[in-house]
Amino acid sequence: MSQWRQDPLTGRWVVIAEGRHRRPDEFAPAVAGPAAGETCPFCPGHEHMTTPEITARGRRERAPAGGPGWRMRVFGNMFPAVRPGDGGPLGEAPWPARPGRGHHEVVVFTPEHGGGLHTLADDDLAELLLLLRERMADLAACPEVAHVLPFFNQGGEAGATLAHPHGQIIATPLVPQLVATKLERMRQWRGEGGGCLLCDLLAREEATGERIVAAGDGALVLAPWASRFPCELLAAPRRHVDGPVAGSPEDCTAVARVLGPALRALAAVRPEPPLNMILHAGPAGGPEDEFHWHLEILPRWTRLAGFEAGSGFAINSLAPETAARRLREEVARCAS
Ligand SMILES: [Zn+2]
Ligand SMILES: [Zn+2]
Repeated sequence: MSQWRQDPLTGRWVVIAEGRHRRPDEFAPAVAGPAAGETCPFCPGHEHMTTPEITARGRRERAPAGGPGWRMRVFGNMFPAVRPGDGGPLGEAPWPARPGRGHHEVVVFTPEHGGGLHTLADDDLAELLLLLRERMADLAACPEVAHVLPFFNQGGEAGATLAHPHGQIIATPLVPQLVATKLERMRQWRGEGGGCLLCDLLAREEATGERIVAAGDGALVLAPWASRFPCELLAAPRRHVDGPVAGSPEDCTAVARVLGPALRALAAVRPEPPLNMILHAGPAGGPEDEFHWHLEILPRWTRLAGFEAGSGFAINSLAPETAARRLREEVARCAS
């Protein structure tokens, strides 16, 4: 059983989820996971090794649900950090807490045991974003869900514990602090007479061009002004689409068309890039027109150390302008 606890000093919320690991010695460093064809629970033919399927893509008509033949597959996490029914006592000052409710799903986005987000074709990336969109809509409609966060850990350095490419979705009863901060700054910008902060940023970034990595008709990928990680990227649709899900189907396709080349450029800079990819959309049931959904792509070539942990300030030794120039070259090279 999990519990949400709020740190009295910082106000930061933490999920205490003891069920995921039982002993301190289980906190092993990055695990590569089983090889394909052996005991990988995410490889086709091993569907019985996961929790029951929630949805899938690509299976032929009349092929039985829960069997092989899929291109993408969603099921509940075997060791969820949060679950729908979790109770537990509420905390009292000075130890605020609440029950560890939420939803935790796994999205296996390829039957191939190797590769990752960077080896997906643009059409498959679009299908993945559409699948996330569908799951986000379902989860956002659940009672007690305040926000839905899809994320990917690719490579041991990025926190992956199973080698087979996959993502996860965690729906939480609280809006994550990072999303709340972005929402607040978007509201502030709007209140000061600006429009949507991200719409304005995208337009201004395109006008200068120095941090743009890939530009398409409907979406942009850029290296953010205050990137925390070398080659950090932000991908967003040009059109303002708010709400608790990843926009419209057209926007998912537009984002996939620029995201694919940008991810392949990252892989050209360093093969098999360890990275986190996070999808930020607005709160469930929150006011419309406030949050402009986007993806953060965080290459994990450097480790967070004491200063970052102690101050919250990142030190990034690669300017986003330099990163964007290099990645633009790779995008052009891959396209030619
Ligand atoms: Zn596998
Ligand atoms: Zn916008």
